[in-house]
Amino acid sequence: MILPRSKLNAQIEKMSPQDSFHASKKVCHLLRSGVAAIFGPQSAHTASHVQSICDTMEIPHLETRWDYRLRRESCLVNLYPHPTTLSKAYVDLVKAWGWKSFTIIYENNEGLVRLQELLKAHGPYEFPITVRQLGESSDYRPLLKQIKNSAESHIVLDCSTERIYDVLKQAQQIGMMSDYHSYLITSLDLHGVDLEEFKYGGTNITAFRLVDPDGPEVRKVVREWNLSEAKNKKGEISSIIRDNNTFVKAETALMYDAVHLFAKALHDLDTSQQIDIKPLSCDAVDTWPHGYSLINYMKIVEMRGLTGVIKFDHQGFRSDFVLDIIELSKEGLKKIGTWNSTEGVNFTRTYGEAYTQIVEIIQNKTFVVTTILSSPYVMRKEASEKLTGNAQFEGYAVDLIHEISRVLGFNYTIRLAPDGRYGSLNRETKEWDGMIRELLDQKADLAIADLTITYDREQAVDFTMPFMNLGISILYRKPIKQPPNLFSFLSPLSLDVWIYMATAYLGVSVLLFILARFSPYEWDNPHPCNSDPDVLENQFTLLNSLWFTIGSLMQQGSDIAPKAVSTRMVAGMWWFFTLIMISSYTANLAAFLTVERMDSPIESADDLAKQTKIKYGALRGGSTAAFFRDSNFSTYQRMWSFMESQRPSVFTASNVEGVERVVKGKGGYAFLMESTSIEYVIERNCELTQVGGMLDSKGYGIAMPPNSPFRTAISGAILKLQEEGKLHILKTRWWKEKRGGGACRDDTTKTSSTANELGLANVGGVFVVLMGGMGVACVIAVCEFVWKSRKVAVEERSSLCAEMASELRFALRCQGSTKPIRKKGRSCNAPTGVDDGRFHPLGSYTSYGFVSKEPIN
Ligand code: GLU
Repeated sequence: MILPRSKLNAQIEKMSPQDSFHASKKVCHLLRSGVAAIFGPQSAHTASHVQSICDTMEIPHLETRWDYRLRRESCLVNLYPHPTTLSKAYVDLVKAWGWKSFTIIYENNEGLVRLQELLKAHGPYEFPITVRQLGESSDYRPLLKQIKNSAESHIVLDCSTERIYDVLKQAQQIGMMSDYHSYLITSLDLHGVDLEEFKYGGTNITAFRLVDPDGPEVRKVVREWNLSEAKNKKGEISSIIRDNNTFVKAETALMYDAVHLFAKALHDLDTSQQIDIKPLSCDAVDTWPHGYSLINYMKIVEMRGLTGVIKFDHQGFRSDFVLDIIELSKEGLKKIGTWNSTEGVNFTRTYGEAYTQIVEIIQNKTFVVTTILSSPYVMRKEASEKLTGNAQFEGYAVDLIHEISRVLGFNYTIRLAPDGRYGSLNRETKEWDGMIRELLDQKADLAIADLTITYDREQAVDFTMPFMNLGISILYRKPIKQPPNLFSFLSPLSLDVWIYMATAYLGVSVLLFILARFSPYEWDNPHPCNSDPDVLENQFTLLNSLWFTIGSLMQQGSDIAPKAVSTRMVAGMWWFFTLIMISSYTANLAAFLTVERMDSPIESADDLAKQTKIKYGALRGGSTAAFFRDSNFSTYQRMWSFMESQRPSVFTASNVEGVERVVKGKGGYAFLMESTSIEYVIERNCELTQVGGMLDSKGYGIAMPPNSPFRTAISGAILKLQEEGKLHILKTRWWKEKRGGGACRDDTTKTSSTANELGLANVGGVFVVLMGGMGVACVIAVCEFVWKSRKVAVEERSSLCAEMASELRFALRCQGSTKPIRKKGRSCNAPTGVDDGRFHPLGSYTSYGFVSKEPIN
């Protein structure tokens, strides 16, 4: 009992909403009989007249309707939430959801005013928002179809509560109530609408409500009303719209709160002064003395009502209030969060609850999966009988969706995209094709293939987490094996080193020759029998020096040895040099002889870009082509210009066509392809290989229509499969095992096992050098023979031919290693090695080529 000392009597007047004249008349009539306050009216047309009369008479006027004019009249209190603040609630919710674009459907101009904050909050550079008005007619289908054709899935609906059902019903009829559509309904009375038919469609229908039916005040009041209604079937509270007798319309709740607010003010003031009602005439200048006190008290008082805490700001508006965010689920409208003017949106539904709800929805679904034929992701199954449905297909992507469906418990139907394309945006028409188009037209729920996640596609559709990572690379034919080089024994050292070595050899030999002549310790007695020789000899003639150094270089040595410190120093250093050079040469020789030389004209994308002989292309309309088209990197830009300029086109309709072109091109065509697909191809076609590394890094994902509620659940399932190692098993199965996988593995092992065997081709050059050396030796021998024969012939005064014939006969006899000399006269004293002009057979006078005639000091 809030008014122990007073009793309030309600006097209800009904009037036409447009008729302000009669409204004023009725107010004057009421005033004449004496009233404490006037509540309403609900019509904007009549409200101003009532307001001005109340102001003049100083009668408290309490309103409960949405009024955009924000009047600050002295005798007015409006309990309806402040329109601008309410509008902000819609802005906050749209922002919290991250809606990029949306369509506003409004009924009348008031609706636009109601949503003006939403229109203002949308920046000029963001995605466009569309504003459409519901017509007078009750057929909204043409309007809804237009929205459907624009592929918009976010809708803000602002219309009277009575029309909400019809709009939603017709939207359902034209297919705009799918899982991917979201509706934000601005009415605060959505709970008064019959939403039974929309509960199971999966559509996201959200609204705000002012009255919490589970609040203790509301429950209490509803119980009382139900009781009184039961007592008095024809009671006056029949205007209350109820759903299961628990829901209260916002307008009713506001009126209830207005009456209670007034009653509280009356009660509180009544304790300090006597408040009486006074009949007033509209024609007189009389006013009600308690009017202002009551109004002012109402504006400062704070109380709890059915619509939450009622309090007013310093301007007298109700700008501090709390709204419930409600969403339609299978169980009906459910509170998922709250909004208040200071903190904005606060979702109370936990992530787990939302996830469980989505998983529940998924379990009853049959998804349409769009895909295209691309090995090894989706391929036609080979079978003797005719296959139908999902059984027609097999591959990595087919197994993947099967695994995901097992995790989440949904069914699916696989359908091929009619144009067999992945999905690219036509920049002129702004239309997508391929699988992306199927998703945007909502003909499919999921797109599973080797579909790359790209920025453009991400703007149009939703992608899950990537299930495979890859990058662009080059598919090309394997390099041709080079026949081994005959002179490959020269390869361990570069030409420069060979030249330096030859120079060093000559230099050291000459130095040795000079130092030996210089050093006195290199001059020796030529004949041991003569202790006092006339001459001394030096063994390091130029030829001997050359012979000594080459002997050490070849690791063979010679029978000449230096005696002086200086020459020994030269010899020592030369031996050290040869030790290192020969060890390095030997170590490198093994590697050079066993490694096969491959000849590939391209090693990387840069090599491709630098030349024009080898053509290169990519899949038309795929992400690889888009990568080159959109790249800012000069090499890739050059490559894109080259690809575009080529006639006939270097672009292919499928990866299979690209692979065929590489095979048939015999080195004249390289195909830019994704690394995973290259891996699959080179595992089966041993003529082909991947050239260079990856040009970028990206992933394949499962695409779904924008705003899909299933993205999180499907991403979760992919993660689960990844962590369980299932994705790895699938990859091994489809890459390495099925459909001819591993065909090129034997090739690799064969090559590595034969790599150590050296053929004649590898070492043939050494034989050539040997034969060459032998030949040269023979020629020199002939020259020596002829030269000496001629000399002897001159001395003996015989003919050259006779001399040569006799020497030849002796040589061909091949007996004994001694040969008699024809002229006697040589003694032990005779200086050996002195050319006495007689013929000495080879071998009997070898060591001393030159004898010095200088005496020793
Ligand atoms: N995976 C690519 C796509 O999604 C197609 C193949 C390619 O462009 O290399 O567009």
